[in-house]
Amino acid sequence: MRSLRFRLALGYLLIFTLMLTVIGALFRESLSSILYAQVTAALEEEWGASKGYLRFEHRRPIWFFDHFDPEESLIVSRIQRVYLSTDSDGTLLEMSPVYRGIGPDSLDHIQRVLQSASPVVVIRKDEHGTPYLIRQGAVPDERRHQYFVAIGRSLADADRIVATFTWRYFAIMPLLVILAGALGWALAGRALQPVKDLADKAHKITSSDLTVKIPLRGTDDELDELVEAFNRMMSSLNLSFERIRQFSTDVSHELRTPLTAIRGQLEVALFTARTPDQYQDAMVNALQDVEQLSNIVRALLLLSQAESGQLALQMTPVDLSDVLTDMVEQYDIPAEAAGVTLSAEVSPGCLVRADKTQMERLVSNLLSNAIKYTPEGGKVILGLAHDAESPGWVRLSVRDTGIGIPAEKLPHIFDRFYRVRSTETNKVHGLGLGLSFVSWIVQAHNGRISVESVEGQGSTFKVLLPAAESAKLLTTPAPVAAA
Ligand code: ADP
Repeated sequence: MRSLRFRLALGYLLIFTLMLTVIGALFRESLSSILYAQVTAALEEEWGASKGYLRFEHRRPIWFFDHFDPEESLIVSRIQRVYLSTDSDGTLLEMSPVYRGIGPDSLDHIQRVLQSASPVVVIRKDEHGTPYLIRQGAVPDERRHQYFVAIGRSLADADRIVATFTWRYFAIMPLLVILAGALGWALAGRALQPVKDLADKAHKITSSDLTVKIPLRGTDDELDELVEAFNRMMSSLNLSFERIRQFSTDVSHELRTPLTAIRGQLEVALFTARTPDQYQDAMVNALQDVEQLSNIVRALLLLSQAESGQLALQMTPVDLSDVLTDMVEQYDIPAEAAGVTLSAEVSPGCLVRADKTQMERLVSNLLSNAIKYTPEGGKVILGLAHDAESPGWVRLSVRDTGIGIPAEKLPHIFDRFYRVRSTETNKVHGLGLGLSFVSWIVQAHNGRISVESVEGQGSTFKVLLPAAESAKLLTTPAPVAAA
């Protein structure tokens, strides 16, 4: 494959050559028609003049002019250079030697000219191939008898000029083409230099350093646009890499904490436990940490299953009001432990068609976040009702008076592995997967989720889910509901 530079230069060269050829041909054509027009005009003038000097009497042409006037003599001798006259039956009356070279016209042609009302102009060649423009027509005598007269002018000069032009033009064309080729090559090189620079810089980028930015040239052209797009792509790649890196650190950290605890408990059991009670205590503690470990692994597995479409939903009619009441009961103790007041305003009979486990997971994730990110003394309020603004929808809200989320971080909180980094959030463990999962559950149930938050004052997560009609709920067979 040829280089882009070569192809650009070649394209330029081809277009240039084509243009030169077309321009040359057009010029040649115009030159030739101008020169022919000049000859035609001069010939027409001579034809007019010939009428004043040439008469026919008794079937004989007679030239009337002042033999002593050099101008008239010159005009007449010029007319007579290429001249022929015949009778209407084609009998030759007078013929100049040049016309003899061209050859007399056929009787047929003579008769056609004599009958035609308009002047006839033809181009004829002599025996040497020299072209002549010939004006032919009928000239009457006093008795209205018609004679055929032809006078001509050589086109050799005009043809020579055109030939000289053509020869010179096409002789210098290769030179111009070579020059254009060199110019095209240089221009293509210049135009592609920034692309080469860009490629050189891109070569230097490695996966360990994605922060490299290619400086803009400040020309505000397509290449700058390319550089900008490239830089944007690099930033988002860098962000993703950064998140994955952060995620690895978080996962190792999350896994290490319970692992270290398990190890400590087992060591205690091995070296210091004496009584069966002490052994049992150590085992129970270790088991709790194992439980935490498997929770983390399950969360990771579940999310990847959900996102790759492997998690099948068991859609059944679910009374969300019941789910919420249960959840509040479950989170009462953790909330109390965190010093957070948990309250709920739940309208009864909010029915949705959903996967119950996923609904529990959705509420549980939002609730645990609200408790996690609300300092001691704060409040978490859970709400559930049929939405007044959009009929046919059930609105679930989780409001807290916690640390809030900075406005610029809000668009990212549903991203996988994303965590807001601050002194407060660093105090609590998390993988940044909870909200990704929440968002997936809402989407899988054709719902909508939104969040409002003021840093330092608290956040409100709102979820809208399509309400199931109670009639549908009643007609649904019980075994499915039980499943
Ligand atoms: P994590 O495991 O870190 O809690 P999530 O995906 O559940 O991950 O949440 C993503 C981030 O959004 C959290 O790290 C936190 O910074 C922020 N966040 C989520 N819920 C709240 C909330 N109720 N109040 C303040 N910040 C929150």
